[in-house]
Amino acid sequence: SKEKGGNSYHYYHPDMNKRSLHRLNLEVHLRKALERGEFEIYYQPIVDLRHGSVIGMESLVRWQHPDWGMVSPTEFIPLAEETGLIIPIGNWILKQSCMQNKEWQQKGLPPLVVSVNISAIQFHQSNFVQTVMDTLQESGLAPDRLCLEITENVAMNNVPYIIETLQKLKVLGVRLSIDDFGTGYSSLSYLKRFHVHTLKIDQSFIRDISSDEDNAAIVTALIAMSRQLKIKSLAEGVETMDQLHFLIAQGCDEIQGNVFSKPIPASDFEHLIKNNKQL
Ligand code: C2E
Ligand code: CA
Ligand code: CA
Ligand code: CA
Repeated sequence: SKEKGGNSYHYYHPDMNKRSLHRLNLEVHLRKALERGEFEIYYQPIVDLRHGSVIGMESLVRWQHPDWGMVSPTEFIPLAEETGLIIPIGNWILKQSCMQNKEWQQKGLPPLVVSVNISAIQFHQSNFVQTVMDTLQESGLAPDRLCLEITENVAMNNVPYIIETLQKLKVLGVRLSIDDFGTGYSSLSYLKRFHVHTLKIDQSFIRDISSDEDNAAIVTALIAMSRQLKIKSLAEGVETMDQLHFLIAQGCDEIQGNVFSKPIPASDFEHLIKNNKQL
C-alpha cells in the first residue's frame, strides 16, 4: 500500500483485487500477442440490398490465445487502447486487411471494399494519415477499396484537427463510415462536413425492429436522412428475415449480419465469394 508522505509504494497492493490481477495478466499476454502471431483477421460480408451481392467486408480482429482460446475484442481492444498497444496492433490490422484485399483482387475476385475499425487513439496520432498512405502504398491497394470506420465519439473534441485529418483522407481517396451510429454524441451537421460515405446504424436499433415501434421509427428516420444527405445507409447486426424485409422496405442500402454470414476466416470468405453467395 502507499502511505501518505512515504515512498513505500509497492506494485502489488494487498487490496489488489482479482479483477485487476486478471487485467494485468491480460496485459502481459497482450504485449506478446503480436510478435507471437496470435492475431487473426475475420471478415464479415457487407451485402448490397439492391443486387443482393457482397460488395465488401468488415475486418474484425480475433485473438487466439494458446491456453485461453479465443479472447473477445470487446475484452482486449479497450485494454489495448488504455495501454497504447492499439497503435502497433491497429497498424498490423490495417496492413493485413489491405494486403488481403489486394490479394483477392489479384486472384480475380470481384471488386471489394474492406472496412477497417479505427480506434480514436489511432485516429488522433499525428502521423495517422501518413500511416494510411504508407499502408496503401506497401499493399498496392487502391484508396477507394479501403473504408475507415470511426465512431461518433472520435468527433467529440478537437474539431479543427478532425476536419483537417478527414479532409486529407478525402483527398487521398479513402472512404469513411460512421460506426455504431446513434449510440454516441454527434452533431448531425458534421455528417456532410466530414464527407462521410456510409452511416452504420447500430445493431441495438436493429435488434427489435419488428417489435419495438420506437426503434422502427428511428431506423426509418436514419435511412431517410441518409438518403437525403446522399450518404449510404448500412444496418448492422441483421439476424432475421423479418428485420431484413423491414430494411428492404425502407430502402436501406446495405446490410451486415448473421442473417447472411457471421465474421469468418479469410479462406472461408474467399470460398463464399467464389461460390457467389447471394442474399
Ligand atoms: P463493431 O465494430 O460494432 O463490430 C460489429 C460487431 O457485431 C462484431 O463483434 C460482429 O461480430 C458482431 N456482429 C455482426 N453481425 C452480428 C449479428 O447478426 N448479431 C450479433 N449479435 N452480432 C453481430 P466483434 O467481432 O466481437 O467485435 C466487437 C467490437 O470490437 C467491434 O464492434 C469493435 O468495436 C471492436 N473491434 C473488433 N475488431 C476490431 C479491430 O480490428 N480494431 C478495433 N479498433 N476494434 C475492433
Ligand atoms: Ca465496426
Ligand atoms: Ca458497429
Ligand atoms: Ca459496436
